Amino acid sequence: MTAAVIDGKAFAAEVRGKVAAGVAGLVAKGITPGLAVVLVGEDPASQVYVRSKGRMTVEVGMNSFEHKLDASVGQAELLALIAALNADPAVHGILVQLPLPGHLEEAAVINAIDPAKDVDGFHISNVGLLATGQKAMVPCTPLGCLMLLRARLGDLSGLNAVVVGRSNIVGKPMAQLLLGDSCTVTIAHSRTKDLKALCKGADILVAAVGRPEMITADYVKPGATVIDVGINRIERDGKQKLVGDVDYASAAEVAGAITPVPGGVGPMTIACLLANTLTACCRANGLPEPE
Ligand code: NDP
Repeated sequence: MTAAVIDGKAFAAEVRGKVAAGVAGLVAKGITPGLAVVLVGEDPASQVYVRSKGRMTVEVGMNSFEHKLDASVGQAELLALIAALNADPAVHGILVQLPLPGHLEEAAVINAIDPAKDVDGFHISNVGLLATGQKAMVPCTPLGCLMLLRARLGDLSGLNAVVVGRSNIVGKPMAQLLLGDSCTVTIAHSRTKDLKALCKGADILVAAVGRPEMITADYVKPGATVIDVGINRIERDGKQKLVGDVDYASAAEVAGAITPVPGGVGPMTIACLLANTLTACCRANGLPEPE
């Protein structure tokens, strides 16, 4: 069997198209959604992400406000910037690019963002709302994964889902979303016993581990849907290469459908960020939310 490829790049372009149409509708009413991105320091991967976020924000017709701060910025100065963005009516979404340099307290910074503008969905209020099944700002990467799964499988109800990884930004919210769609969810992590056997029982297998190509064919149930969140830069045959947490070549022989890296989950993350910003802008203006 060779798995169907889940084309996240094409799906993300569709999502961005819908967001652009929604933005055009708001602009006609005199409202331009605005997304502020805060980047601290010069981490090369973060710089690339922030650049493409800014470009795509402008492409869908929104205002992009980029704030680049020196790696040595103090906690108080960063919190003051967030307070200013919270108070700015032109800013509907605020994203602080993670990871932050070690001397900054990440949780305090995230929780200083107005939850209504927290388009990354990392503020404890949004985490709590999601966990209790209430309307929340949902973290972009897991939201993108859920959209791909729904598009592929339709109703997810009753399916066995295994999420490998328990981070606050991917694994945990992914599990909450799958639970919300009535999957039977297991969260696996570095202490999980017999991970292979556990994964082999999964109709939906989400890999968010951060270990290049760890999930090989022998973790995959025949016909399963495999979502690879991993983004790992490795060197192979003297060349830099981007690979996922799934060994694509072998897993694709067993799975029913699989996301590639690149071109799978990655593009969905930014598309969902833009969708969240549009939603935040509609809510801020008391307008109906996009579907
Ligand atoms: P973290 O490092 O925060 O979490 C990794 C998780 O994997 C941890 O829960 C860890 O367990 C678990 N883990 C590590 N090794 C093993 C193992 N051998 N067996 C089982 N579980 C293991 O990573 P993130 O959640 O932030 O990111 C995961 C991956 O997704 C990365 O490759 C990252 O680059 C990528 N990513 C991609 C995004 C996108 O847009 N596509 C966005 C965000 C991340 P424990 O908790 O026990 O340590």
